[in-house]
Amino acid sequence: MLARPALDQLRDDCAKKEFEAVLISCPDRLARKYVYQEIVIEEIQKSEIEIIFLNRPIADTPEDRMLLGIQGLVAEYEKEKIRERSRRGKLHKAKKGLVVGGLAPYGYRYIRKTPERDGYYEIIQKEAKIIKQIFDLLIRDQMSARAIAKYLTVHQFPPPRRGKRWNNSTTRRIVTNETYAGTTYYNKRYSVETENSETSKYRRNKKNGRRMRPKDQWIPITVPAIISRRTWQLAQAQVKRNAELSPRNAKYRYLLQGLVFCSNCGSRYMGVPCREALFYRCSNRQRNFPLPPDCKVGSIKASTLESAVWGGVCEAIKNPELLMTQVEELKRKRATRAGALEGKIRKIELRISKVKYQEDRMLDAYTAGAVTLGQLRGQMDRIKQNKQQLEEEKKRLIEERNQGGSRATKERDIKEFCELAEERLESFEFQEKRKFLRLLVDKVWLEGDCVRIKGVIPVSSGMAKKKSNGNIAGITSL
Ligand SMILES: [Zn+2]
Repeated sequence: MLARPALDQLRDDCAKKEFEAVLISCPDRLARKYVYQEIVIEEIQKSEIEIIFLNRPIADTPEDRMLLGIQGLVAEYEKEKIRERSRRGKLHKAKKGLVVGGLAPYGYRYIRKTPERDGYYEIIQKEAKIIKQIFDLLIRDQMSARAIAKYLTVHQFPPPRRGKRWNNSTTRRIVTNETYAGTTYYNKRYSVETENSETSKYRRNKKNGRRMRPKDQWIPITVPAIISRRTWQLAQAQVKRNAELSPRNAKYRYLLQGLVFCSNCGSRYMGVPCREALFYRCSNRQRNFPLPPDCKVGSIKASTLESAVWGGVCEAIKNPELLMTQVEELKRKRATRAGALEGKIRKIELRISKVKYQEDRMLDAYTAGAVTLGQLRGQMDRIKQNKQQLEEEKKRLIEERNQGGSRATKERDIKEFCELAEERLESFEFQEKRKFLRLLVDKVWLEGDCVRIKGVIPVSSGMAKKKSNGNIAGITSL
């Protein structure tokens, strides 16, 4: 493409005659398209600056150009030249801070250039009033773009020019257009060929897709503002929130999706939208075919449950002592368990020694001639089998005991984790909250009016890890 910042710079510098010659390694580096090369070469030569291609001399004779097949390209060349001249003209205009193009957004009128004044945007007061109201509906009433469009239609606001009625794309465009806060941008997007262009090969303009340029290439132009900067910022925050709550974003709407369980029947709760609000409901109750639902527990409003769980988790993070009491209790339970295991191991050892005694007695009996070799073999096989079983049981118990011992949690690790998390908690958005809960919470049990949160604090490698993301890497990425 011709619209490249460095190439524009070169052409500007050529026009100012800042040097005598341009060295280009090969024509390909200048532009992939021959036509584009021609435009730039001709322009540079006009400024009486020499072009030197390092790999081959420039073709300058008509014959040479014929060979390159330029003739067939003349038409394309002219068209491209006009388009390019107009693009560069607009770019220069924008860089001077002037409004580009006659198509003003809703709320403004483009006043054409006169000998006294360059073209500019003028506010249409009647439309500006509606725009203010749209932002009001968005921020104060937290309406979605669709709801705003509906409201405007119902209340018979005149639709924008060229449009027959208000629809959500119109209102969405308005609430995301920074022009209304006093800054419009030129050079925000560029055209690309899309997959659709392939199928419609007879289209005149194949570049029917638009892509965003990086923000540092946007050229800001100041225009009269209709809303304040503060209103603009509030509006963008609300637009973001609306997107998160949008039905199109359904899989992200439930903060606790997959984490809530019914203590009545043990089934998982699922998210169920009901009119405007969201609910969690026991999935067992949802099932009603072929059998009637066998759990009668009521559903719970998502916002109620979510704020209770999030509040509980936050409280625990802010007061690590709360967690420590739980950890202490866990340790106590484990100690009791370890004690019980120890007792079992001792009993097994006793039984093993008894079996060994039996073995010795059998051998004594055989030596004394009290039993035959056949009897000895039968008895010894039975004893051996018995002994082997007991040894295996002992091994298993020892393993279980050792595992419990290595799970000890250090208080310092928990406090460290809580401090790390607390710093970030306040600034968490929905997605981050969801990620954070997934890391910590194993299950949320609903028991009537009570919520029990079971979780794991991923502090060190010795701790039990929850799923695969419950490791230290998970925390650092938060
Ligand atoms: Zn249930």
